[in-house]
Amino acid sequence: MIMRLRHKVALVTGGATGIGREVCLAFGREGAKVVVNYIGNSEKAEKVVAEIEANGGTAIAICADVSNEEQIGSMIREIGAKWGGVDILVNNAGIYPRKTWHEITGEEWDKVQAVNAKSCFLTSKAVFPYMRSKGYGKIINVASVTFFRGQKDFVHYVASKGAVIGFTRALSREVGGDGITVNAISPGAVRTEQELLDFPDASLQEETRIYLEQEQAIPRRQLPHDMAGCFIFLASSDSDFMTGQTLNVDGGWVMH
Ligand code: NAD
Repeated sequence: MIMRLRHKVALVTGGATGIGREVCLAFGREGAKVVVNYIGNSEKAEKVVAEIEANGGTAIAICADVSNEEQIGSMIREIGAKWGGVDILVNNAGIYPRKTWHEITGEEWDKVQAVNAKSCFLTSKAVFPYMRSKGYGKIINVASVTFFRGQKDFVHYVASKGAVIGFTRALSREVGGDGITVNAISPGAVRTEQELLDFPDASLQEETRIYLEQEQAIPRRQLPHDMAGCFIFLASSDSDFMTGQTLNVDGGWVMH
């Protein structure tokens, strides 16, 4: 079997759960050395590491708050010392607190921008020297279908995902000459374990399923592993002439 990410070092932020977890497992299967970044859920992060290792892969978990420049710096230095740098960066960590827009405080707004958007800038900046010295790198930012649709009770979140897409486009022009591609993946409504914890009500789950089946071209709930192939594509040399783009991976919900 050809492993498309063999000898690459991949950092996935927020890799302990949900979409990030699935990306870590997929990258591990493709032969990458995987760094599972996490905050506050070390047991889950270690479980992802153990799962990758059980499949014959290589992984470590590193705790760092991706909205904190110092913590990012020390994480990247640790990876540099251990594995010589980062070839693939997936900016996946995110928070999505639901709130009526006029009740959102300035601090809450800033926090969402810091974790979802500023983190992409800080982490990309921290890995850039390694990628530039190799003349090659892959940056994948995680956006959201909500940016294309607008979404009630999520103005801070939707704005942060717009920033992620804007950052993706602008950064691709800065680093294209260094052999680095920058793209975004925009997931639809993914049924993660967090969703089931946030919305355990079976009738609400059923309502959501029916609604999404009407909205999407592919009439079923999206699961984290539905995106794995697109992440591998953007992380591998198959996508070397593609940059600044946002791939909607949402079962055909929004189209552009
Ligand atoms: P999730 O909550 O399972 O994953 C987010 C991860 O980010 C968690 O492990 C969390 O601990 C981590 N995280 C949060 N703040 C952090 C910080 N400051 N530093 C480091 N890690 C931090 O949810 P998910 O659905 O897997 O979300 C992953 C990404 O996908 C997010 O960017 C989210 O906005 C995006 N997204 C999700 C959906 C969906 O339907 N689930 C849809 C569109 C976009």
